[in-house]
Amino acid sequence: MTLTKDIPLDEVNPFESMMSRFDRAAELLDLDRGLYTILRNPEKQLIVSIPVRRDDEEIQVFTGFRVHYNTARGPAKGGIRFSPDVTLEEVKALAAWMTWKCAVVNIPFGGAKGGVVCDPRGMSTRELEHLTRRYTAEIMSILGPDTDVPAPDVNTNEQVMAWIMDTYSAHARHTVTSIVTGKPIEMGGSLGRRDATGRGCMLVTLEALRQQGLPVEGARVVVQGFGNVGSTAARLCAQRGMKVVGISDFTTGVHNEDGIDLEAAEDHVRAGGVLEDFEGGDHIANAELLELDCEVLIPAALENQITRANAPRIQAKIICEGANGPTTANADAILEDKGVFVIPDILANAGGVTVSYFEWVQNREGYYWSRERVEKRLKKIMVNSFKDVMRYTESHDVSPRTACYMLAIDRVAFVHRLRGIYA
Ligand code: NAD
Repeated sequence: MTLTKDIPLDEVNPFESMMSRFDRAAELLDLDRGLYTILRNPEKQLIVSIPVRRDDEEIQVFTGFRVHYNTARGPAKGGIRFSPDVTLEEVKALAAWMTWKCAVVNIPFGGAKGGVVCDPRGMSTRELEHLTRRYTAEIMSILGPDTDVPAPDVNTNEQVMAWIMDTYSAHARHTVTSIVTGKPIEMGGSLGRRDATGRGCMLVTLEALRQQGLPVEGARVVVQGFGNVGSTAARLCAQRGMKVVGISDFTTGVHNEDGIDLEAAEDHVRAGGVLEDFEGGDHIANAELLELDCEVLIPAALENQITRANAPRIQAKIICEGANGPTTANADAILEDKGVFVIPDILANAGGVTVSYFEWVQNREGYYWSRERVEKRLKKIMVNSFKDVMRYTESHDVSPRTACYMLAIDRVAFVHRLRGIYA
């Protein structure tokens, strides 16, 4: 059972949800009208038609998007998703999100996102490859290591990145590894990329526990979603002495007050299993899982999971937003009143884009770092960013969410002021 059915209608639009936070932060920053208007609009929106010859020889034309939201601070950075439901509005929102995320962790990228309206489950590998290559060719005019660097997102993976790199390189007449991140390690991917988002969640959770004066040892952690982000965050939190008492996937939640055997759960999932068939605890609904008594809740599955409907019943003291947009704007105020400390998504899950930045740097210098170096530098960026956000929270007496947006908007606006307007 998911919560999605019960979400109040005014809470489902992620663009409006994000922009309501943007507006509040812009107002508190006293952002002038001109800059506000610049930052409220995407820089570039490209819509392309992608003809693909299907396996039955029929030609089908798919629609693709690529949006650069803002590139004041550097090349546009953001994933590409393949989904039957993707829309230009959604891509625009996600591109804006990437702009703020890169600014919060102070990496020199702007924000972008791309999408192709298709159902990859109904396509063969050959069809997907052709779709990817033709989409790449159609958006090539705005791609480039200095202009726009894509990455994987929903339903795209290392293989899709390899096809994009190969297509771009064929046109450039030489191998351009820095055109995408999230590549296979063998062709220029970075060590530590796969774990980066979950590792970042663990690092800011540790900071938040310290900041809240809560002991790390034995802190009870509940994780919604047991995919890349959730399972890594759970494993790394447990390695630091926390006790993971709840995990879930789309089939069920699993609750065990003595601590879940995460190795067994990971083995089970790696072997193709779902948690419904996992015996490591009591099975509970995902909605119930979110309301468990714990110190840390890590929603790492979907957007819109904590709404004004269930926020009053959340018992966690800290929420670390592994997923993008798991908490609605209406729920923010309720959690703030309850004194729940929220580590906002644009900070909590920025470990992924941070190591993507490391991948791009390594590609450009042609020298590859050890896993230790990647992890050490990731830690430095995540911890410093957490501290930057805390300083804003205290100096402006605002929630960490508002502080994140203020910090990000301030950084992007500052560069706009320095650069001025080309006329
Ligand atoms: P994933 O596909 O690897 O895992 C998603 C997990 O969520 C799976 O265990 C799935 O079963 C579970 N899930 C799906 N529907 C659910 C439901 N209704 N209730 C409970 N669980 C459900 O995805 P991921 O890469 O781990 O990403 C998770 C979230 O983190 C997404 O919001 C994604 O946008 C965000 N994110 C991911 C990265 C990254 O580097 N992977 C970076 C930033 C943000």
